[in-house]
Amino acid sequence: MHRIVLTAITAGTLLALPAAGLAKGPAMPSEAEQQEAVSRVAALGLPIYQAGGQGKYVALTFDDGPGPYTAKVMNELKKYGFRATFFVNGKNFGRWRDTLRREGREANVGDHTWSHHYLPKLPATQQISEISRSVTASSNITGNRVQLFRPPYGSSTRSVNAWLKSRSMLNVLWSTDSRDSLGANRNEILRLSKAGTKPGAIILLHENRGQTYWAVNRLLPWLKKKGYTAVTVPELLALNPPDLATVKKRAGVGVGFR
Ligand SMILES: [Zn+2]
Repeated sequence: MHRIVLTAITAGTLLALPAAGLAKGPAMPSEAEQQEAVSRVAALGLPIYQAGGQGKYVALTFDDGPGPYTAKVMNELKKYGFRATFFVNGKNFGRWRDTLRREGREANVGDHTWSHHYLPKLPATQQISEISRSVTASSNITGNRVQLFRPPYGSSTRSVNAWLKSRSMLNVLWSTDSRDSLGANRNEILRLSKAGTKPGAIILLHENRGQTYWAVNRLLPWLKKKGYTAVTVPELLALNPPDLATVKKRAGVGVGFR
């Protein structure tokens, strides 16, 4: 008798699941679809600034961690069912190893070099070792493949872009700078992030600053109210695939490609 009741509950729950899923919003692309969406753009060997403009999806990206605000930001994202991308530095992994593991489970972890040097000033071999050392350490800790890269100060080189292309890794820049690393106060960070919100936007934030955390706390409910969903960069590229001709055109005139 007990068993029959349990079976009935299970069957009811299973039947109710698809409806509940739809009510929360559209299904996210599968892992394979996301990887394919990144590889499609990475094959160009050029940086990307934004995705296509099809749906109300944006990518919040947080650089320079992991650090003291990472877990707080992830807790806030979770409340809204949002996800983000974290571009991490290998030099922080020793102290924030568990935090990086959690980022690997709940977000997308991209690379931001080991020690955050300005890459164009380094010899080509060192530019690559700065990335590969950090990528290897990060994937050993999270167990995930690292498919995204963001150069410190948005400045990469031809050697870096060629190396990324050979590994099917994508150089991800941004369409909106919150200017949190340039001294913007918390209200400015919030105002610029809101102003830059549009379908396919990639917003630059930093995860090691209290003023950014303050702004993010206000940005997330605003995004929700406006009907936006914050997703990871691979999810964004799969949901809002960019036109490759536009990516080429923008990279030809954009900054961050020397
Ligand atoms: Zn940085």
